[in-house]
Amino acid sequence: MRSSPVSNMSRIVLKPGREKSLQRRHPWVFSGAVARVEGEPESGATVEIRSSQGGFLGWGAYSPKSQISARIWDFHEGARIDTEFFAGRLRKALARRTLLADATAASGAMRLVHGEADGLPGVVIDRFGDWLVLQLSSAGAWRWRDEIATLAADITGARHVFERSDADVMMLEGLTPRVEPVSGDAPSAPIAIEENGVRFEADIARGHKTGFYLDQRDNRALVRDLSSGREVLDCFCYTGGFTLNALAGGAAFVTAIDSSGDALAAARRHVRLNDFPEARVDLIEADVFAQLRKFRDQARQFDVIVLDPPKFAPTASHAEKAARAYKDINLWAFKLLRPGGILFTFSCSGGVHRDLFQKIVAGAAVDADVEVRVLHHMSAAADHPVMLAFPESEYLKGLMCQTG
Ligand code: SAH
Repeated sequence: MRSSPVSNMSRIVLKPGREKSLQRRHPWVFSGAVARVEGEPESGATVEIRSSQGGFLGWGAYSPKSQISARIWDFHEGARIDTEFFAGRLRKALARRTLLADATAASGAMRLVHGEADGLPGVVIDRFGDWLVLQLSSAGAWRWRDEIATLAADITGARHVFERSDADVMMLEGLTPRVEPVSGDAPSAPIAIEENGVRFEADIARGHKTGFYLDQRDNRALVRDLSSGREVLDCFCYTGGFTLNALAGGAAFVTAIDSSGDALAAARRHVRLNDFPEARVDLIEADVFAQLRKFRDQARQFDVIVLDPPKFAPTASHAEKAARAYKDINLWAFKLLRPGGILFTFSCSGGVHRDLFQKIVAGAAVDADVEVRVLHHMSAAADHPVMLAFPESEYLKGLMCQTG
């Protein structure tokens, strides 16, 4: 393996007073906080971060092109960022997951490494059966790709590692997308997984993110538990995560909407794979915003509605426009619910925080003229932990609401 890329000469020195967030263990160094970069670190190289007074703050990976100039690997001065460091972090991440094994191990599908929350900024590793899917989105993670891939395969015993480094955020780091096998073969077909006893196929090479939205596992189980005999509407259904769980829970009928024909074709395959009657599902290729209005014109009503839209606000600067979009779909969903009906409403926008999201949904309820109670606050499943020192890791938030 390659030796450590640490250059002893490379150092980021912060402006006066800008060390506070790092002292609270927030792992990002914003470019606006940087007084100067000493030495000539390459992209992804390990640099020392020091306060204006010269105090040591952490070892980080340098990202010359990003607004985030460095991400901290370790806050301890005695740490060495080398192969053994990554082995330790990966082993710890896996050890944390063994506590959760009941919920997830049987499925063969789990997030093993969740970036900053596992002490590995920019590194996501999901397991789908014999495959590990690696998503690297920072210059530091990129630089250590070979070590991370080899160690992860060794430690987990997985036979193949496939790289899906094509997230939008990579562009901000000046990295070129990379989608290819790292070790082993490219998958010749989607990979069979199970979630809450429901069978799916994850397309790790072409599907969204790493192939399947693992973060919604627990929330899909909540939908399943409430679906018996009910008429369910699944908006932004993608490959049918919520739809299939509703069917498994005995839904009388599920209507599912997505704008992607490919996603709907996969959802249909998943219905067949589980031997659910196709007569109990209507998969509609449409724009959700338009389709909800159409349903209103047709006086359609539902008992359970799921709203799981894509990220409307990747960052806080998009929050206002996103707020209008969230309000719109939630308003129409409330209008389409029968009294006593349940709305599962989500936002995976990093730029819209939980309290803002709740305010938006509250505004939608007022405009729809319905009384709404929150029964559950939802978040990503436990294999996507939130680091308290890094609230940005709480990207997925949801409300389970009851009307009337
Ligand atoms: N609920 C899904 C994940 C949803 S991902 C699951 O559990 O797996 C978001 C989906 O919204 C994508 O499939 C995308 O195709 C779809 N989408 C995005 N904008 C849309 C729109 N305006 N109308 C309908 N679908 C849309």
